[in-house]
Amino acid sequence: MQFDWPYALSLLWESDFWRACLTVAQLSISAWLIAGAAGFMLALAKQSSIKPLNWSARLYIWFFRSLPLLVLLMFVYNLPQIFPASGVVLSSPFHAGLIALVISETAYMAEIHRGGIISVPKGQYEAGKALGIPYAGIQRLIIIPQAVRIALPTLGNQFVTIVKLTSLVSVVSLTEILLVGQRLYTQNFLIFETMLAVAFYYILVVTVFDKVLLKLEALLDVTKRKPKPFVLSESDAKEIEALRKQEAAEGEARKAKAQLRPVLKVEDVNKYYGSHHALKHVNLSVKAGDVVSIIGPSGSGKTSLIRTLNGLEAIDSGIILLNGRHFLGQSDDNTDRIDRNQILDIGMVFQSFNLFPHKTVLENILLAPSYHKRGTPEERRILALSLLQKVGMLDHANKYPHQLSGGQQQRVAIARALAMKPSIMLFDEPTSALDPELVNEVLKVLEQLAAEGMTMLIVTHEMRFAFSVSTRVIFMENGSVVHDSTPAELRATNDQRVKEFLHQVTE
Ligand code: ADP
Ligand code: MG
Repeated sequence: MQFDWPYALSLLWESDFWRACLTVAQLSISAWLIAGAAGFMLALAKQSSIKPLNWSARLYIWFFRSLPLLVLLMFVYNLPQIFPASGVVLSSPFHAGLIALVISETAYMAEIHRGGIISVPKGQYEAGKALGIPYAGIQRLIIIPQAVRIALPTLGNQFVTIVKLTSLVSVVSLTEILLVGQRLYTQNFLIFETMLAVAFYYILVVTVFDKVLLKLEALLDVTKRKPKPFVLSESDAKEIEALRKQEAAEGEARKAKAQLRPVLKVEDVNKYYGSHHALKHVNLSVKAGDVVSIIGPSGSGKTSLIRTLNGLEAIDSGIILLNGRHFLGQSDDNTDRIDRNQILDIGMVFQSFNLFPHKTVLENILLAPSYHKRGTPEERRILALSLLQKVGMLDHANKYPHQLSGGQQQRVAIARALAMKPSIMLFDEPTSALDPELVNEVLKVLEQLAAEGMTMLIVTHEMRFAFSVSTRVIFMENGSVVHDSTPAELRATNDQRVKEFLHQVTE
């Protein structure tokens, strides 16, 4: 038997095939998008600590990944025999095919998304939480964009699988590419020629979408973006200057009133990690304008203390007051239930910056004020720019975090925390992740904030800074506050542990 080339080529103009391509594209894209969104929900449910949610998600994924699509499709298509009402939707092969594909693919997509979600560093959730953004907001603004970007190559791969799976829908007589081919060769018996055309059309659909997905991937990849220069307009410059003058005046007024009002009060706080007593009867009071440095050997509980103070870790007993109001402890054992308005009053700067990598510097700063609708968009923008100017990062406003040095990233992180106008700033070793030559630029910003009367609590290993800028230095050891004194007093102490520690870190 001869291969009929003219016939095979004529199939490239066959309108039934092109219509079938459209059907396949519609079915695949719809299934991919719906299953992609539903899969994300399912992935979150599987990650959830709520048991019934977690178990339902596991059950779903286990069941529908085990069930062959063809079997599911026959069930869905024939469902009207048992529930006639469902015939309105399911008697259409397209809808039956779409529903079966979505049900089955959601289970696969959930696992792909879960991979994406767990690849987003924990610090990203914590940065969102420290900015007072609730769970749904953190997912929408911070986690989903990053998780989808990570999962996109695998999601694209799944699209190809879906395109090929649509051929199964021919069994319920959907006129897709395979069925068009089958109808043709049952008439003329030119199986080889027809199947070659069928193969061509599938490959065509996959190739076109592969290209589109690659484009999408490149579009979402911020690491490929060129840094855009930032040009400050004259009117913006004037507004920033006015705002900074106003804030300087407010700062002076604050300083005049300072040293009296307690901003943060920690009373007899205990914290355990399992059986490890990490914070032991900690008492601490920070007044407005205080700059308190926390020093002490590694593992003494400094990070634990800072993290409990803004609700990133729950405390087991004791109480924490913020601006004279109950904030944490006693009644609330669940850190998710703490008052968001109070969280916003505490700015947090992490050792590892935790900037949002998919947002520009300016967007990083604007995220929380926009979410919490502080002022008008224009006011927020001017505030963000003035903060960037304050930390010396205005020229970099349009860059992405990966385009900055560690010191620059940390200065942006400080501006981000300041944007919510907190009454106290917490810092956990803000310079420990930096190269030595970058430490000073961050310390300078801290010194400037201290001079402006900002209330600060800083865990640090920079002794020169701690002893020169702080109003008080706290020495922690084994979960306890051992000393809480002025820098001069601590330097003069006869406590051997402090002397040894200072000797070690300044060596
Ligand atoms: P520091 O910041 O002073 O180095 P940390 O507050 O990080 O100390 O840790 C205090 C102690 O608590 C250490 O012994 C540490 O191993 C323990 N610890 C810290 N975080 C956890 C955790 N999430 N789970 C269990 N133990 C922890
Ligand atoms: Mg630490």
